[in-house]
Amino acid sequence: MVQRSLAIFALIWFAALGTGALEYAHNAEHAREDAAMEAAAQAAGVPATPEPLHDDSNCAVHLQLHIPLIVVGYVLILARLGLLAAALALVAAALIPRELPVRIDCRGPPAC
Ligand SMILES: [Zn+2]
Repeated sequence: MVQRSLAIFALIWFAALGTGALEYAHNAEHAREDAAMEAAAQAAGVPATPEPLHDDSNCAVHLQLHIPLIVVGYVLILARLGLLAAALALVAAALIPRELPVRIDCRGPPAC
């Protein structure tokens, strides 16, 4: 049950991240904060300031949304390990003895 719920959570997370829904929600949060700051400035009688630019340089959440999840170097290492495992499996298959026994002790000589 726990493994299934973790898989469902991961599926929902990656779908939300891949479709841009998380970034859309975060941008909506920034817009709501900017509107609240502008409304507070208008209520205080202070002239409105230009809206701040939100990007990876000034927002940690933006940076985390845009950072790659898998570093490319690890993918290359895993691919090479897979190729090595495939080559070793071929060598191991070639070392299996394939000759027929001349005599089977529990039955006697095979009847040809
Ligand atoms: Zn942000």
